Amino acid sequence: MKRERKVKILATLGPASDTEEKIEALFLAGADVFRINMSHSSHEQLKNYHDMIRRIEERHGRPIGILVDLQGPKLRIGEIADPPAILEPGDTFVLDNDPTPGDATRAYLPHPEIFEAIRPGDQVLLNDGLIRLSVLEVEEGRIVTRVIYGGPLSSRKGVNLPDTVVPLSAMTDKDKENLDYACALGVDWIALSFVQRPDDVAAARKRVRGRAGVLAKIEKPAALRCLREIIELSDALMVARGDLGVELPLESVPGWQKRITRAARRAGKPVVVATQMLESMIENPSPTRAEVSDVATAVFEGADAIMLSAESAAGKWPVEAVMTMDRIAQNVESDPNYRDIIRSQLETRPEPTTADAISAAARSIAETLKVSSIISYTSSGATGLRIARERPEAPIIALSPKIETVRRLSLVWGLHCVVTEDPRDLDDMADKACRISFREGFSMIGERVLITCGVPLGTPGATNMLRLADITAEVVRQEQAQKQAPCAPATPPEMK
Ligand code: PGA
Ligand code: MN
Repeated sequence: MKRERKVKILATLGPASDTEEKIEALFLAGADVFRINMSHSSHEQLKNYHDMIRRIEERHGRPIGILVDLQGPKLRIGEIADPPAILEPGDTFVLDNDPTPGDATRAYLPHPEIFEAIRPGDQVLLNDGLIRLSVLEVEEGRIVTRVIYGGPLSSRKGVNLPDTVVPLSAMTDKDKENLDYACALGVDWIALSFVQRPDDVAAARKRVRGRAGVLAKIEKPAALRCLREIIELSDALMVARGDLGVELPLESVPGWQKRITRAARRAGKPVVVATQMLESMIENPSPTRAEVSDVATAVFEGADAIMLSAESAAGKWPVEAVMTMDRIAQNVESDPNYRDIIRSQLETRPEPTTADAISAAARSIAETLKVSSIISYTSSGATGLRIARERPEAPIIALSPKIETVRRLSLVWGLHCVVTEDPRDLDDMADKACRISFREGFSMIGERVLITCGVPLGTPGATNMLRLADITAEVVRQEQAQKQAPCAPATPPEMK
């Protein structure tokens, strides 16, 4: 089973997609990776989702990625008596350390760290940015503010501090428990919310210990100031436009989306564009023109994946939302301007490493000879990532003996991943590659493929070889014999 597009689709699971049938329908419609949001899921629900996804994976013989999104240090106010309290522009409003329920003049802020970090002139946003306060003075246990935009305030509403670096770790105790549990289950990606500094990513990496990839969600202005270092420490990025759009002027988000996407692509780290991509499809079976254009923009930018949040988790049309993304992506990728546009988005110069030299050469040879696929033996996934970074026109098949590798790579632009044992020798290497490319529907008889691998075979990190091979009648005969023979040995334990 192959997708007819390079960009991947990430679908968030929730009440609208909480049975095996519904998740399978999303997978069949085009979802490559599923996101489980720990702001709304218990350990038990996570395990349930995980087990259902792994059964679907088994049934279809295709790897599926699982991304667990940690809630992170979401800041909230305390209780409000007789909600909602109505804040009026021009009034003073105090945030303090007094747990008694608040009103239109004050509220409890149960985060002592903020009192240390905030400065006069900083902005405080409440209720998804609807209410805007400006800090006048900071006293012992009190932050006195002026209301800029007022509005209704009720209990435990979210607090955003776009101007303040709060000395909070990106992981709360709850996040740590969730992370440990998810890694023990064997999920593929851990997403960190509200990353502010490179250290936040480093701390998570230390705890994950290589058991999953670490994805940094970029949704804080502080993270934009050290984006390069954060990218260096992360395995993947997300342009988390929801919170980013609260913390930054909304009109600056599209520009940041381009900058983050380019920086991640340059580094060869997968990047996901997320939030409100098809928002109106929570209610309606078809999207708005602006939403279609937004999804298309992310695909033209060369993002690795586009994401659905409430559309697939809590909307009325989850399958239609995935199908809509799939159709938009296919359409963009076959647009006559697509190749030029993703190329001109960014010039990815190879770094002076063997893997990059081989990857750049692979793209160039693939174009010159019009090969039907590039097949990459990639044990750890590193070479697969570097070839995808080249954004070649030919399909890329990533082969690894490790199921964890192919699952993780399912987030990456253009990679069709197959589990396969390491080849015995160079003939077996070419033979396996040709057969898999034919079997998976990427090549026909008479076509040519390009293979990258490392000699000695099966040594991780040793990619040093390019080889061309032809899909011969013998390759086809072997494949067909294997399919037809009634008592042929069972299909090798390959998960395509
Ligand atoms: P969230 O993250 O859905 O967990 O808030 C994405 C975003 O903020 O865009
Ligand atoms: Mn967010």
